[in-house]
Amino acid sequence: MSFLHEAAHELVSVCIPSACVGCGRWDYSVCPLCAALSYSLLPQWELLDAGNVEYPLWELSDYSDPMRSIIVAAKHSSRLDLSEFLFDCGVNIGLSIAQSGMLSVGSDATSLWVVPAPASWKRRLFGQGITIHVARGVAAAVGGHSEVACCVRDACRLDPWVSSQAGKSSEQRRESRRGRMYMTEEVPRGVGVIGVDDVVASGGTMNEMFRVFERSWVAGACIARSRQ
Ligand SMILES: [Zn+2]
Repeated sequence: MSFLHEAAHELVSVCIPSACVGCGRWDYSVCPLCAALSYSLLPQWELLDAGNVEYPLWELSDYSDPMRSIIVAAKHSSRLDLSEFLFDCGVNIGLSIAQSGMLSVGSDATSLWVVPAPASWKRRLFGQGITIHVARGVAAAVGGHSEVACCVRDACRLDPWVSSQAGKSSEQRRESRRGRMYMTEEVPRGVGVIGVDDVVASGGTMNEMFRVFERSWVAGACIARSRQ
């Protein structure tokens, strides 16, 4: 019996080898070096062009390996829980936002909503939402390190017929997001909005969120910025 058990264990470890999802190093699901990316990278911000207006977008990393592989694994691997890594990424970004002074410039917001980018209905039903973990981290850090009260509000939705962004050109992505989002609850006066997404590529999703929340918008934030 014990032999069978051992054999089965051996078979499992051969079939599902344990390698770091970020860099492939053996015997880790996430190795210490990759795990450290969440808190050791220094978030940067740039101005994102939303047509006739620009707004700040905070980003933790380029969309390149190992961060890219970690994000892909977080989205698609059901046997691996990367919520802590994603939360830590959010904390890192939130700390930078809180310490930047950006929250007190030109805004009378006394509290903030951190709003995750809406997932397609397919992903909402069958996939794994990863943006929510990042949003929770951002809210925890901003709330804990500024005068501004901060909470996560899942206040943005995609119209149900919008399909996944995968496999589309950047122009198609921009087009598919345009005019297809709406807010599920009105943002009260004096409340600012930080929009959070996992990856920002063309900026289509973030700009659409900006359009929805424009009156209350403070900044966008993402873990990884892709510039193809
Ligand atoms: Zn690694």
